Amino acid sequence: MKFNTKTIHGGQEHDPAYGAVMPPIYQTSTYAQSTPGGHKGYEYSRTHNPTRNALENAFASIENGNYGLAFGSGLAAIDAVIKLLKPGDEVISTNDLYGGSYRLFTKIFEGFGLKFHFIGMQNASNIESYINDNTKLIWVETPTNPMMNIIDIKAVSNIAKKHDVLLAVDNTFATPYLQVPLDLGADIVMHSATKYLGGHSDVVMGALIVKDKDLADRLYFIQNASGAVCGPQDSFLVLRGIKTLHVRMQRHCENGRAVAEFLVSHPNIEKVYWPGFEDHPNHDIAKEQMTDFGGMISFIPSGGDYEKAIKIVEKMKVFTLAESLGGVESLSGHPASMTHASIPKEEREKSGVVDSLIRLSVGIEDKDDLIADLKQAIG
Ligand SMILES: *Cc1c(COP(=O)(O)O)cnc(C)c1O
Repeated sequence: MKFNTKTIHGGQEHDPAYGAVMPPIYQTSTYAQSTPGGHKGYEYSRTHNPTRNALENAFASIENGNYGLAFGSGLAAIDAVIKLLKPGDEVISTNDLYGGSYRLFTKIFEGFGLKFHFIGMQNASNIESYINDNTKLIWVETPTNPMMNIIDIKAVSNIAKKHDVLLAVDNTFATPYLQVPLDLGADIVMHSATKYLGGHSDVVMGALIVKDKDLADRLYFIQNASGAVCGPQDSFLVLRGIKTLHVRMQRHCENGRAVAEFLVSHPNIEKVYWPGFEDHPNHDIAKEQMTDFGGMISFIPSGGDYEKAIKIVEKMKVFTLAESLGGVESLSGHPASMTHASIPKEEREKSGVVDSLIRLSVGIEDKDDLIADLKQAIG
């Protein structure tokens, strides 16, 4: 089955009770048993729920995995992966990581005796010098947020395999429409399904997808034992979102290209970060591992400082100033004070997240309106 068919049919069957084409929202916590243990595969909704299962099957299908797991948020999904580890274990991660992931790693899990290294991975061979006997996991985000760096998943996976270390890829920005990390050798794919998979900014959810049965069983155990699951209503919404992922992504990419090209030719813009530019430092890898370049763009206004960036985001009208990304509507953000405020300024600026940086999630509106809005806001 091809991707554009999988988004609609992957892992789905019509409801066995009445043939409902969309899975019903099984709004129930528990299931009747005829005798202790005599049930139809469902006992309690933290463990299993038919609506959530339909979604989990869709997750597995679109990411070319064998097993999908849904969580109450992207961070809950990451939390479950880190719980595979034990005190003393070490994790190597990217240095311009999503702020919430950085906060979870440093403020929660360092307190449980785990050690995290945040390093530049644009050159994958950098990783090797941080690997030792305690290294158990490499955590990659690509494109990175908000600097739009590209990391070579296949190259990182070769290093991970050589040292018998798990590789997890946060595929929130790219989605499987653009890149399929499991096919490039990753062991775990993670999503904030809040973003492109849900696609309509109306639900918070996380996902994990794996191929390996043993790894899936360990993650299912954590999902049930820790309990950070999502409800059936939210599962229904994300399942519906996935059905249009391919058409939305196609338009996100088209509009993203138009906005990136507008910005780069604007005299009052100093720098535009978008992996589709031929002079982007990792453009060749982006071209190899992605089918297109997406709708996430960051830029710096000329001579920009904190005040200038704030003024621009305040002036935009079609772009809404808001946290999050990946919905049908265009959003703007100021990473230094919003998504990345939980990373210390010094750390932040080391990876390029300066006070004047603006991030755009380009939506699927008419591109002429988006460009006109940017024009009036930048001046
Ligand atoms: C939003 C986001 C997360 C966290 O997901 P939530 O659903 O907000 O918990 C993790 N990684 C990336 C890249 C994100 O954009």
